[in-house]
Amino acid sequence: MLNIVLFGPPGAGKGTQSEKIIAAYDLTHLSTGDLFRKHLGEGTELGLLAKKYMDQGHLVPDEVVIKMVEHKISSTTHSKGFIFDGFPRTTAQAEALDAMLQEHDMHISGMVALEVPQEILKERIKERGKTSGRSDDQDEEKVKTRIQVYVDETLPVANYYKNQGKLHQINGVGKIDEIFTQISSIIDSL
Ligand code: AMP
Repeated sequence: MLNIVLFGPPGAGKGTQSEKIIAAYDLTHLSTGDLFRKHLGEGTELGLLAKKYMDQGHLVPDEVVIKMVEHKISSTTHSKGFIFDGFPRTTAQAEALDAMLQEHDMHISGMVALEVPQEILKERIKERGKTSGRSDDQDEEKVKTRIQVYVDETLPVANYYKNQGKLHQINGVGKIDEIFTQISSIIDSL
């Protein structure tokens, strides 16, 4: 079992790199942002609840996210492992993830953290907003809030994994394939 946390600010390239990792390592993609957008598209109660936070660029409350992830992990069978994308985003989520993995006799193999300067993030998200259809990509104020929320609430999660000796940082600026090569060599060393 290979369970990877792909970590980084909004616009760091987590979605893009996740796709490549899944294709190469046959892992199950668990993107909490994608799951919320799916719920939103289906008009579920959870989707409507999440929308209030997503529209503001704020985090959906921990208990809501954790319950959704628990459900996804429990309902996934025959998996070679998970790639966690956009989760955990708070230390409480990271602790909850460790606890739920333990219940399934699993653990996090490592965290890969993509590092990208804020100015480049803003440019990338603006570009993505032209085609993603995501309202939270198209409003500069919301993008600013999301990056600030990342700095204030999500960055401490890197320390959580660092303290466990599981943090692997890489430069997230460059060619997609070159970044993927670096990610692969980390995954292969786990
Ligand atoms: P993303 O697609 O990962 O950029 O997530 C889009 C939005 O979904 C975020 O701005 C949050 O509002 C919400 N979201 C996604 N993942 C989480 C999470 N792990 N914790 C709290 N909120 C989340």
